Amino acid sequence: MAQATTLAVQLIAATEFRPPHGVDWTADETASDAEALVEFAGRACYESFNKPNPRTASNKAYLRHILEVGHDALLEHSTATVYITGLSRSASHELVRHRHFSFSQLSQRYVHPDETRVVVPELIARDEELTRLFMQAIDESRFAYDEILSSLEGRLEEANALLRKKQARQAARAVLPNATETRIVVTGNYRAWRHFIGARATEQADEEMRGLAIACLKLLQEQSPVLFDDFHITALPDGSEMASSPYA
Ligand SMILES: Cc1cc2nc3c(=O)[nH]c(=O)nc-3n(C[C@H](O)[C@H](O)[C@H](O)COP(=O)(O)OP(=O)(O)OC[C@H]3O[C@@H](n4cnc5c(N)ncnc54)[C@H](O)[C@@H]3O)c2cc1C
Repeated sequence: MAQATTLAVQLIAATEFRPPHGVDWTADETASDAEALVEFAGRACYESFNKPNPRTASNKAYLRHILEVGHDALLEHSTATVYITGLSRSASHELVRHRHFSFSQLSQRYVHPDETRVVVPELIARDEELTRLFMQAIDESRFAYDEILSSLEGRLEEANALLRKKQARQAARAVLPNATETRIVVTGNYRAWRHFIGARATEQADEEMRGLAIACLKLLQEQSPVLFDDFHITALPDGSEMASSPYA
């Protein structure tokens, strides 16, 4: 029997800033490494390490100014990597359309789907009868998958057992549902993360993708509040969340 799973997003890597020798500048103590790096990169453009403009002397004011004037290229220096589990293949298909991210995704050719689960769309999960119907369809497709897999493995002539399994799985997976869970590592710079959140945290976005964008936003707000706090999270009438920013 297929099992339902839920989204989990964990931050597994983030920018570490090492101030260079020979530059008379220090970041505010409140600044995260990512925020210090963006300020350093901006000041490096104009050699303004002595903070000549009192209005943008603090890290927070400097970065807010960068967001306001749209000097977004500076945000490309800071990065964050997340490990996402409990995401459907249909949502991951949307996620990988974002071309500035780097991805490493669970292979359906190497890993049997028994080791993964399915993501039940929220609208279906709210209804007991629809959930039953949904899980039944999942089980039927899993049954077909297993039948096709064992039949192919029995008749393929490839001598290498691993290759034979891979060939059989890559054909059989065609019957797996979009709801099949995937797991994926995503690395992006802050400009790419802001663009992704701006596009996918809107009310118009797919609900699962919106949930993913909001989960990523919350992690990034913890990591670098100044560079993500302009996104305001609000609740929609159905209880789900969306986010928007005047700068994204
Ligand atoms: C609500 C919603 C509905 C959607 N519906 C559909 C749909 O029905 N069908 C469909 O196919 N897709 C759909 N998409 C996906 C959408 O078309 C994009 O592929 C996806 O959102 C990636 O975003 P992006 O194109 O802004 O680029 P990203 O890859 O995230 O890149 C970020 C930015 O970099 C720049 N950039 C990147 N690559 C290039 C390039 N080659 N040339 C010039 N500039 C570049 C652009 O400014 C781009 O906005 C939908 C997306 C959303 C949010």
